Amino acid sequence: MSAKYIFVTGGVVSSLGKGLAAASIGCLLESRGLKVNLMKFDPYLNVDPGTMSPFQHGEVFVTDDGAETDLDLGHYERFTHAKLSRDNNWTTGRIYEQIIAKERRGDYLGKTVQVIPHVTNEIKAAMKKVAQEVDVAIVEIGGTVGDIESLPFIEAIRQMRQELGREHTLFVHVTLVPFIAAAQELKTKPTQHSVKELLSVGIQPDILLCRTDRFLAKEIKSKIALFCNVGEEAVITAKDVASIYEVPLVFAREGVDTLAMKYLHLEAGERKLADWEEIVRRVYNPKDEVSIGIVGKYVEYEDSYKSLKEALVHGALAHNLKLNVNWVEAEGLETPDATYETQLEEYDGILVPGGFGKRGIAGMLNGIRYAREHKVPYFGICLGMQTACIEFARNVCGLEEANSSEFDPATPHRVIYKLRELRGVEELGGTMRLGAWPCKLEPGTLAQKIYGKSEISERHRHRYEFNREYEGTLTAGGLRISGSTPDGTYVEIIELPDHPHFIGCQFHPEFKSKPLEPHPLFKSFIGAAYERALQRRTQRDAAEVEMFHRPEKVGRR
Ligand code: GLN
Repeated sequence: MSAKYIFVTGGVVSSLGKGLAAASIGCLLESRGLKVNLMKFDPYLNVDPGTMSPFQHGEVFVTDDGAETDLDLGHYERFTHAKLSRDNNWTTGRIYEQIIAKERRGDYLGKTVQVIPHVTNEIKAAMKKVAQEVDVAIVEIGGTVGDIESLPFIEAIRQMRQELGREHTLFVHVTLVPFIAAAQELKTKPTQHSVKELLSVGIQPDILLCRTDRFLAKEIKSKIALFCNVGEEAVITAKDVASIYEVPLVFAREGVDTLAMKYLHLEAGERKLADWEEIVRRVYNPKDEVSIGIVGKYVEYEDSYKSLKEALVHGALAHNLKLNVNWVEAEGLETPDATYETQLEEYDGILVPGGFGKRGIAGMLNGIRYAREHKVPYFGICLGMQTACIEFARNVCGLEEANSSEFDPATPHRVIYKLRELRGVEELGGTMRLGAWPCKLEPGTLAQKIYGKSEISERHRHRYEFNREYEGTLTAGGLRISGSTPDGTYVEIIELPDHPHFIGCQFHPEFKSKPLEPHPLFKSFIGAAYERALQRRTQRDAAEVEMFHRPEKVGRR
């Protein structure tokens, strides 16, 4: 079977949602019974985003095989069933790393190694690898056309069209059609320039996905079609939507998939989108709402914690709830007085997400203490599990100086310490415990009840771990270890049986949650938070009724 390729490029500005566009096209083609795979090329020089700041790059998405990848792969997994691995995300740095290794080995037999053909060949080989055994491979080129960095990738897709022909390759260009308030007009010029830029490197786009805040009238579409040399039917209104899960439905209404199939001479069944329609119906018609406070240290969490935010949304959708989620800056909770309690009072559930470094830890510990003592549903992920263990050791087991050796290498009680096999490894790149590991759940625990099975597999990204030397002390205090690796080495889940819903996991469940398959831990956390919301409401109502009936209070009104 020879796969068809859809290449997705972006123009005018970044952040137009190329990743979501690629994922949504994948979703539509899959809904018709086609098998798809998706990949992304990132033009920057870092070998992978693993060592980049989440402020710079956004979340690092981890695949089962332990690759640290671009957050767009998260969209691909949430929108399709494609199985992604390190083969699905390449940076310029990683392409060059391979080429230089080959050159040092003498693989090029004395030839001059050049961008064309050596770099472009390497890029094409990577594309062909993910296209094996699928009907369609969707290839997203990061960056904006016109960037110097992305030229080799653009050149590679140009060559792909030359090699495979029109029926096997499709160029989709995501562009911007802004509404200019002063002129009260939609403007097509940026799109025209962007297409011109593509043409200058030998690529005539086939489909234009025009990001806009309003529908493009026929005249605008005709104008874009004329100036950009595409069919009018190929000028697509990619209108802004309130929920990313609506994008596939918007594309379906515009017939993006039908057009792609026509251009690629692809036969497929009818779309089956009932599940997505139901999700979107829920997004816009929640029966109630729930409030979650995330206690962490990155204020700009929108992109730094993309999968986390989506997983919470999935959990809320599973209960048909609207999610109100607020970021509580951990450093703001560090004062020893009671102000942190008032900051946290409004939340039905508290979550401490993954993170690195010492900043904000004291605030997280306060937040966790509050959740534990006030029986607020708590969900600790990775760092949030480690800090939950530290909080418990300090405030319940009396080990006042308990800590992680990450935050205090000299602590007398290293409740959390560096993964034993990594001790002594100082280099930052690729030294973490990464990717999927199996975990056995203890019978009778909340974790086991939530998953409904006793063996699970989840994805990791951490250097430090629970120190089993403290297992006795902590379990005697009332903490329960509910999941470990099958050989017993690593503690994977902890919980507090004496609490309605207190769970910490060493892995990142958010990477495996999808709108159509919400992760059980998120679903149950949101469920518990909502239960608390209802209880609190009943209590408040009861208190009001009581106030009303107390004569002295009424009299004072
Ligand atoms: N900093 C902690 C560690 O390295 C937690 C990592 C995380 O939360 N992803 O183990």
